[in-house]
Amino acid sequence: MTTPSASEIKEVREITRIERIGAHSHIRGLGLDDSLEPRQVSQGMVGQKKARRAAGLILEMIKEGKIAGRAVLIAGQPGTGKTAIAMGMAQALGQDTPFTSIAGSEIFSLEMSKTEALTQAFRRSIGIRIKEETEIIEGEVVEIQIDRPASGTGAKVGKLTLKTTEMETVYDLGQKMIESLTSEKVQAGDIITIDKATGRITRLGRSFTRARDYDAMGPQTKFVQCPEGELQKRKEVVHTVTLHEIDVINSRTQGFLALFSGDTGEIKSEVRDQINAKVAEWREEGKAEIVPGVLFIDEVHMLDIECFSFLNRALESDMAPVFIMATNRGITRIRGTNYQSPHGIPIDLLDRLLIISTTPYEENEIRQILKIRCEEEDVEMSDDALTVLTKIGRETSLRYSIQLITTANLACKKRKGTEVSIDDIKRVYTLFLDEARSSEFLKEYEQNFLFSEITSSTGTEK
Ligand code: ATP
Repeated sequence: MTTPSASEIKEVREITRIERIGAHSHIRGLGLDDSLEPRQVSQGMVGQKKARRAAGLILEMIKEGKIAGRAVLIAGQPGTGKTAIAMGMAQALGQDTPFTSIAGSEIFSLEMSKTEALTQAFRRSIGIRIKEETEIIEGEVVEIQIDRPASGTGAKVGKLTLKTTEMETVYDLGQKMIESLTSEKVQAGDIITIDKATGRITRLGRSFTRARDYDAMGPQTKFVQCPEGELQKRKEVVHTVTLHEIDVINSRTQGFLALFSGDTGEIKSEVRDQINAKVAEWREEGKAEIVPGVLFIDEVHMLDIECFSFLNRALESDMAPVFIMATNRGITRIRGTNYQSPHGIPIDLLDRLLIISTTPYEENEIRQILKIRCEEEDVEMSDDALTVLTKIGRETSLRYSIQLITTANLACKKRKGTEVSIDDIKRVYTLFLDEARSSEFLKEYEQNFLFSEITSSTGTEK
């Protein structure tokens, strides 16, 4: 027996972080405890407790499969964490529940109609859990014959004779089976299982019928009982795909390669009808179940009246996902009409929604969020610099102050410092304008800009 020497132990190197740090990368969940109460700071989430508590309840209903086809609106001022809450929900739902996130304006494209884009987004948010049964055969290997590779091709062929309690069966060995035979070091007299779906062979050990070989083979050999009784077992394999993926794979014009390029174009409604019928059939036979996921549309006021009427109708389908929208608009015009309504959403749709509102942050909450962002971006910042940045956040916007973290850190590196100081913050504050100062600047120098319209008496949004 050999013990591994120090040199054999692999050196574990720190992997350089090369991924970009996104605006919400610090959010790892909703930060709720077991009784769905929000913790003040948890999983990257700070404050905004009422909204998080409400989001937690909705999450629970989604998990229990109770609220398919329901719609939620998160409404609040800019930078109050609406998108962050939706991201937190996505994280808490886990990998198996489909979550699609788009901005309202994304559905306006030249490649497909608005309703097609929305249909695709809907179908991306519905998972189908497909159950497949595969047979596992267990038996004792009687004989293995593997032929030499045919010259040039390298492909091996062969036969395997397996004895179960019922009979001896001869299998033609496919490449996968030969690979598993070799990696498991299978020989005659071994007890193995063959997975009929994948062709994978697993060696369980040696048969007692050959126990007389024991002495010759040494004590490491593991012996298993020669199988008796039922030799064929059934195993269930489950995979989850989205309805959209099934659409694309079955759409003759696109083919599955479109899944990688994302260039799916429009999908014919006949294809979708066929797939819906097939899925309904699978559900009846118990082969598949629907996993309603979540469709999140940010900046939902960018949708127009046609989209809203489509959504109203789509929500009634029994395969609809949970639909979460966010907006920072107050009373505004519904696109495509001359009517105004709260959040620019038609009243009949609004009436169906569960509305969650977000409120502006307190100073200590802004400080906490900025601190978490510093950690996320690996930025060291002195306490007084953080205090100044918090003040800036309060007076301008949370987003602006988050942006200053990165730029102040660059300024700090430039002077070869290790910790962002008040001076670094001051420097980038004067270099980059926030929205209010930028508007002021425009007003001051309006004559020098092209197409300045601020003097026009209406001043309405174009
Ligand atoms: P808008 O209306 O402009 O789209 P929003 O309400 O969606 O704004 P977010 O984008 O969620 O705002 O928030 C701005 C930034 O602040 C993001 O980086 C977000 O992750 C962070 N943030 C907001 N609220 C919280 C919070 N409660 N905890 C931690 N981070 C937060």
